[in-house]
Amino acid sequence: MFGALTRWRQRRLLRRAAIPDALWREAVDLLPFLAVYTEDELARLREKVVLFLDAKGIVGARGHEVTPLQRVIIAIQACVLVLYLEFAYYDGFENVIVYPGEFVPDWEWEDEAGVVHRNDAPLAGEAMPGGPVVLSWPDVEAGADWDATGMNLVIHEFAHKIDMRSGDANGCPPLPANISVQAWNRDLMSAYNEFCARVDRDEDTEIDPYAAESPAEFFAVLSEVFFVDPLLLAGEYPDVYAEFAAFYGQDPAPRCRLLP
Ligand SMILES: [Zn+2]
Repeated sequence: MFGALTRWRQRRLLRRAAIPDALWREAVDLLPFLAVYTEDELARLREKVVLFLDAKGIVGARGHEVTPLQRVIIAIQACVLVLYLEFAYYDGFENVIVYPGEFVPDWEWEDEAGVVHRNDAPLAGEAMPGGPVVLSWPDVEAGADWDATGMNLVIHEFAHKIDMRSGDANGCPPLPANISVQAWNRDLMSAYNEFCARVDRDEDTEIDPYAAESPAEFFAVLSEVFFVDPLLLAGEYPDVYAEFAAFYGQDPAPRCRLLP
């Protein structure tokens, strides 16, 4: 658990488990959205990644072998969300499981009539309360090219994890005292309803229409957009952008305007 790490243990761990420079550089270069971060912030991110990799297992399943580069690529994207948040948002689960491709989860659920259903649609990723984060490696890799795919699977699933710290995912993570839950829900829901109406009209949206699935998916998809394509979110839903900037403690849009 992250909470149990004392400052002394952290310092010791950061020395002992440091990521080799070449490996770090290679991973950073593969994630173009990191271009808005200063060297100081990248150093902060690197420390978070070391702590993350110490606390969580990133393990391959169904024949997938996780390489050191894959571990760092996954951990970086998970840590971008908590760069200025308490690591406690990621308490309550131990592992990230990486599959060689999309997978059919083996969970079942019971409806009100008592009929048991099995999910049989393949998924690229999954996050369950109290359970691991599951990722399909080819879909993680595809996310590196945002312009082509418009998705970032790792940020998406870890946004769900953050949301789930207050129970089932509902689009409203536990908020710090300086952010009003009422204002958060008002801003998110009004954007959500507007977005759903556009999707219902079959409008061609720049934001993945999957965001219309539920408030939880809206939060996860818009978190991807916030970090990877912040000008898009700031342009389409400035109120949501402002809530996210306050919550995540980051304001990437103005920095993107300054990029060459
Ligand atoms: Zn989702």
